[in-house]
Amino acid sequence: MSADCLFCKIAAKKIPSKIVYEDPDVFAFEDIGPQAPTHILICPHKHFESLTEATPEDQSILGKLQLVAAQLARERNLLDGYRTVLNSGRGAGQSVFHLHLHLLGGRTFRWPPG
Ligand code: AMP
Ligand code: ZN
Repeated sequence: MSADCLFCKIAAKKIPSKIVYEDPDVFAFEDIGPQAPTHILICPHKHFESLTEATPEDQSILGKLQLVAAQLARERNLLDGYRTVLNSGRGAGQSVFHLHLHLLGGRTFRWPPG
């Protein structure tokens, strides 16, 4: 855990959130500013700032984030179309520096993203 990290505090239940999934590796909760009818953030319990800090030993946890997203999409009947997004760095729009995967669904998405 990183003492000043918002998402570490959410994992530790020091800050309230709507947790929708949790296991020893990952936790997932509703985004506070949803950009789609479903907008969930899926995080590893292990704190790392962004994808750039990940190493080969993180291979399995990075894959698990995507598998949990697919499971949540199935459970929420989003199979008509959903999107997983991982913003890395300020230039890509990252604003919270604990790696997280966005799961967005329930509306039509455009390409390319903004
Ligand atoms: P990013 O811009 O990719 O770093 O995504 C950060 C996301 O965290 C944004 O979509 C925010 O709406 C969301 N967020 C910020 N604070 C909270 C919070 N306390 N609870 C839930 N989501 C949050
Ligand atoms: Zn953290």
